[in-house]
Amino acid sequence: MSKETLLQWMTANETKFTAMAQKIWEHPEVAYEENYASKLQKVKLKEEGFSIQSSIGSIPTAFVAEYGSGKPIIGILGEFDALPGLSQTVNIVQEQAVSNGPGHGCGHNLLGTAGVEAVIALKKVMNDHHLNGTIRYYGCPAEEVLSGKTYMAKEGVFDDLDCALTWHPWTSNFVLHKSMQSAVSIKYHFKGTPTHAAASPHAGRSALDAVELMNVGSNYLREHIVDGARIHYVTTNGGLSPNIVPEHASVWYYLRAATKEQVDDMLRRVEKIAQGAALMTETEVRSEIEAFPYNTLPNDPLNEIMFDNMKCANSLHFTNEEKKWAEALVKTIDPAIVKAANETEKELLSSSYQNDTSTKGKSMSGSTDVGDVSWITPTATVMTTCAPTGVQLHTWQATASFGSSIGFKGMHLAAQTMALSAYDLLINKDDVLNKAKEEFKIRTEGKPYTAGIPAKFKQAAEFR
Ligand SMILES: [Zn+2]
Repeated sequence: MSKETLLQWMTANETKFTAMAQKIWEHPEVAYEENYASKLQKVKLKEEGFSIQSSIGSIPTAFVAEYGSGKPIIGILGEFDALPGLSQTVNIVQEQAVSNGPGHGCGHNLLGTAGVEAVIALKKVMNDHHLNGTIRYYGCPAEEVLSGKTYMAKEGVFDDLDCALTWHPWTSNFVLHKSMQSAVSIKYHFKGTPTHAAASPHAGRSALDAVELMNVGSNYLREHIVDGARIHYVTTNGGLSPNIVPEHASVWYYLRAATKEQVDDMLRRVEKIAQGAALMTETEVRSEIEAFPYNTLPNDPLNEIMFDNMKCANSLHFTNEEKKWAEALVKTIDPAIVKAANETEKELLSSSYQNDTSTKGKSMSGSTDVGDVSWITPTATVMTTCAPTGVQLHTWQATASFGSSIGFKGMHLAAQTMALSAYDLLINKDDVLNKAKEEFKIRTEGKPYTAGIPAKFKQAAEFR
């Protein structure tokens, strides 16, 4: 079976995977609770003869499915978690399927399923061609809280990979040359002394005062951090009632920057601010790191192979009905946002492909735990059109798109791109694996990967 027949098999079998993505979209589950999606994918992969390693790092929904033997070992990364509160029907008006329920506003119903589709297609080609090597699908939980892959990495499941491929739903088709930001997700918990706020305020020490002073300090820090870095926070506990001086108050921070070193430095300074706030208010503070993914490292040789294969995959064609639906959906978005999106992407439903090498070395806002994998093994990411131009991720319009035929078409393009690329990697076309590894060595400067989540946290369940 050549690459053409691989593609023919994928075209003939795509409805099965559309059904899988649709089912996951209809059963959205938030981080670490992806039991339905994880089981659905594991059962399918087991049926197809993959060996399954379940509950990686004691996380029930994390798994690895493997087929074949020996080298090379090619990994395809999948995700399946949804976002809280983003429930939506496939509709051009905001309409929640379940009141305040979760929804696939980031398209991870498509993300994971495309990986399953790709590895099952690869299994066929490996059998027919008697190809040596191993393919793996990684069922990765909790990308939205940026930690699932970090816990999997702590178990060493990515260590023997020759490379990893992944993708993300988007509004156009391209290989990702930019690097996504490193980020730390950290919670600060202050403890004060409660008292009657009117009768004996002098006897109290407010934990909420400490949170507010910490936020003031952090806002002053903004002027003195590197360009493109981000500080955002939410107060998760501000006390119980105005007439009780709050004994407990908590604030949850995300700090982001282009590299992990930069985030480490910001974190060092924010920790001082937290200590300062505690000192000023005579309260105590403790912190806990929830997630700390690395920035993603792109890989040119892998990106080139992914781009070449994206062009070999079936082109995207959208029907008039899909175009009309997309037009109506985009009308619900602020025109200024749509105008800005149209500056980089002219088509409403993009079917062209971009390989914008001028973006190499640039950083892109947003973070992912794929960053961790990219510091362990050479990793490449493609994006495909799964929503109309102007739709922003993590919105109801995105949830609607990722449950529609537009989303499914983009998913199949991603599955084909990854399967065709993995085929080239299995036969090590043009010695690409060695080239990828050479570049990986240069980019990582030989630094070994160490998980950003402290060693004392062995598994997600321990601190969730
Ligand atoms: Zn996502």
